[in-house]
Amino acid sequence: MAYDFLVIAAHPDDAEVQMGGTIAKLAKMGRRALIVDLCDGEPADYSEPGIRREQALSAAALLGADREFLGGQDRFIVDNIPTRLAIARLIRQHRPGMVFGTTGACIHPDHMAVDPLVTAAVFYARLKNWARVPGGEILADTEPWEIHRLFFPHCKMEPAWGDFAFAVDVSDTYPIKKKALAVYSSIFTVQSGDRLLDLYEAEDAHMGRMFGIAYAEVFKSQSPLIVSDPTVFLPGLHG
Ligand SMILES: [Zn+2]
Repeated sequence: MAYDFLVIAAHPDDAEVQMGGTIAKLAKMGRRALIVDLCDGEPADYSEPGIRREQALSAAALLGADREFLGGQDRFIVDNIPTRLAIARLIRQHRPGMVFGTTGACIHPDHMAVDPLVTAAVFYARLKNWARVPGGEILADTEPWEIHRLFFPHCKMEPAWGDFAFAVDVSDTYPIKKKALAVYSSIFTVQSGDRLLDLYEAEDAHMGRMFGIAYAEVFKSQSPLIVSDPTVFLPGLHG
């Protein structure tokens, strides 16, 4: 199936934390979204095996996205050739215009690995002649595909960014993001109030403040941004 964009993250809830408002916004605009978690997030902090996966599927449905799990082991996600190829295969199957990863600056080793995995997979996806490469057979029955854009949302385990490529106004879809995150009682203490969730919201509000809006999610870009019409930009706080 074709998707307009893929969000590739280490664990269930990463995509929601990093860019849930943007996913919901694009989905509302009719863009088809697929979230790919490199593992199912087990062992979860506050639930038995399997619950976090179910919650991830429910959260994706709230955002308006589909979701797949790539079968890795939480805590042991590393940049390796088989995982690069598996992600490249997904890109070739689903032919997205945009792919979102996670930057390599995060303290969590699983998150850190997503950056080189996704960057390599995007490159592999456009190459030909995989049947001639040992191990490359996994791509041999798919056609090369070149995406338009590779973006990286801010991982909230990194220090807050003062510099980024662009921000998305997610004020209108922020209630959906909060609802999707609240599904994860396997990982957040949702009932009694969760300090981390409060801090995540505070960061999105802080980013929004930089633009005079309620909430924003911020992104870095693999390559420089270009527009054919510079009037597409929303007003800046100070011009
Ligand atoms: Zn994570």
